[in-house]
Amino acid sequence: MSVIPVLGAFAGSAKLLPLPGEAADATAGGKDYFKELGIRTFINAAGTYTFMTGSLMRDEVMSAINYASKEFVLLDELEDKVGQRIATLLRCEYATVTSGAAAAMTLGAAGVLTGMDEKKVAQLPFLEGTGMKTEVIIQKEHDIAYAHALKNTGLRIVYVTGREELEKAISDKTALMYFLNANNFEGKVQVEEFLKIAQAHSIPTMIDCAADVPPVENLFKYTAMGYDLVCFSGGKGIRGPQSAGLLLGRKKYIEAARLSAPPRGNTIGRGLKVNKEEILGMLVALETYLAIDHAKEWKMWEAQIKLISDAVKTVAGVETEVVVPPVANHIPTLHISWDPKKVPATAADIRQKLRSGNPSIEVADGANQHTFNVTTWMLVPGQEKIVATQLKKVLAEMALSPTHG
Ligand SMILES: *Cc1c(COP(=O)(O)O)cnc(C)c1O
Repeated sequence: MSVIPVLGAFAGSAKLLPLPGEAADATAGGKDYFKELGIRTFINAAGTYTFMTGSLMRDEVMSAINYASKEFVLLDELEDKVGQRIATLLRCEYATVTSGAAAAMTLGAAGVLTGMDEKKVAQLPFLEGTGMKTEVIIQKEHDIAYAHALKNTGLRIVYVTGREELEKAISDKTALMYFLNANNFEGKVQVEEFLKIAQAHSIPTMIDCAADVPPVENLFKYTAMGYDLVCFSGGKGIRGPQSAGLLLGRKKYIEAARLSAPPRGNTIGRGLKVNKEEILGMLVALETYLAIDHAKEWKMWEAQIKLISDAVKTVAGVETEVVVPPVANHIPTLHISWDPKKVPATAADIRQKLRSGNPSIEVADGANQHTFNVTTWMLVPGQEKIVATQLKKVLAEMALSPTHG
């Protein structure tokens, strides 16, 4: 019950939950759908996880989605014009809106394989005997579940480690070289060297930057560097629709990729549809994201993290550290850990308590069972105070000695 006064304190101030799609707005419209269905909603202090439904769309995006829902257009014309507009905004050759970064990977790889040959488009994912190339090269250190999106085209993954193995693996079967930007520093060959090797052998390149904004510059950086295809998620840091993403880069590959995309039916991409609302929503999310004051947003995240850190550190035995991951999810991240002798609880215990609290709160996995991580970029401003209060309360309840703050 002790959380109620905190909520009460907020109810009086500016609107606590100002974003569309939230329970507060839904209730105002007369129906609280999630509540009626018995679905738990929660404060997301974890991050842009697909299983937690990613991110919240800004008002501008929802306006565009509502606008688009009232008109018919031709899907190809919409993709053409939106693609051109995105390419202008991001200063790259061409772009298309896909149903996510994984779809951008599948369609981009398909475009590289088929070119503008519609017969080949229909042959995917069966490459043998078609004259199409059959292999994609990936560094072992860049092995990630999402690479399955490349296998959907029929491509076989050839894993290599180090420059020598990489160069040896390149053959006349090599269709593509894929780079996972998040693991740049884990791989033996880093982002520019990888590109140079590919270019020296005239192999098309793809870079997976799904979770790599912020910083906003990354939307421009890798096409400018020379990667042929660059894949971003729409529903992570950009806060577009969760089922949207961007494929950026060379026009010849992206035009070819479109041949495997809806509305065309005899394709591997027919299931990767993006509706007109989300295509327009993705464009508007991108425009809105490009226009925001990124330095100011960063300062806000730092202040929110400090508030939460200061609160939980008042519990004896609790320690915190602020870490900024170098590439993907590059945002201030609070690692909260505790001495199990002073706070005899596992992260699973504490997360269960946070989850079942009111309001329910989700945090992210930590490195071991006596730590978890918190980010604030998916919070609605104001929620950091609730998170700080609740985290402190739950940790203090688990602690052996009383708090000293
Ligand atoms: C999230 C993610 C994907 C998948 O992105 P979607 O937009 O959900 O399809 C692919 N690769 C990496 C590295 C990711 O983080």
